[in-house]
Amino acid sequence: MPAIDELAERITSIGFRCTGCSECCRRVADDSNLVIVSPPEIRAIMAATGMTWDETAEPYPEFIDGGDGARYTFAWCIRRRGNTCIFLVDGRCTIYAHRPWICRTYPFMLDGDALLVSECRGLGAPIPEEEARDMARALAERSRAEAVEEAGIRRRFAEAAVPKGRRAVFDSEGMKVLDG
Ligand code: SF4
Repeated sequence: MPAIDELAERITSIGFRCTGCSECCRRVADDSNLVIVSPPEIRAIMAATGMTWDETAEPYPEFIDGGDGARYTFAWCIRRRGNTCIFLVDGRCTIYAHRPWICRTYPFMLDGDALLVSECRGLGAPIPEEEARDMARALAERSRAEAVEEAGIRRRFAEAAVPKGRRAVFDSEGMKVLDG
């Protein structure tokens, strides 16, 4: 992972300012509205909103065939209504203080040392130094959180088998067999 100063410099050279278009919360291209959330993030949103797990999140839609009719996936996404995140209301995020890492760090993400940049109207705009550093710190934290979640998923996947004919999600908390 790059040092925070170096990452902040790269972000500054790219430039970014959120325009509030909320396109990152809606489907504007294939799967562009799939916001992956970890169990700790889901539980934080549940605590803040009083919503249930199922009201908050839906399984990542790409399931892997496990044989005997069993199918599984490795992540949860923020639940969508139609093509839009359910937490987007009148163009604003209603869980802003509790939004997931993906939302906090959009349009950037780290892949090892590489800083990846997604399409966004706000790219290229001047970014204040302190905001670039905040984004760099958030990206580093997001990477660490994702590494912990991935290790948890690998451990849980090794522990359990999906029952015949059922669908399940593996996350760092365990195997969650879905209804129906
Ligand atoms: S949680 Fe908030 S910021 Fe993230 S996609 Fe939904 S409305 Fe947008």
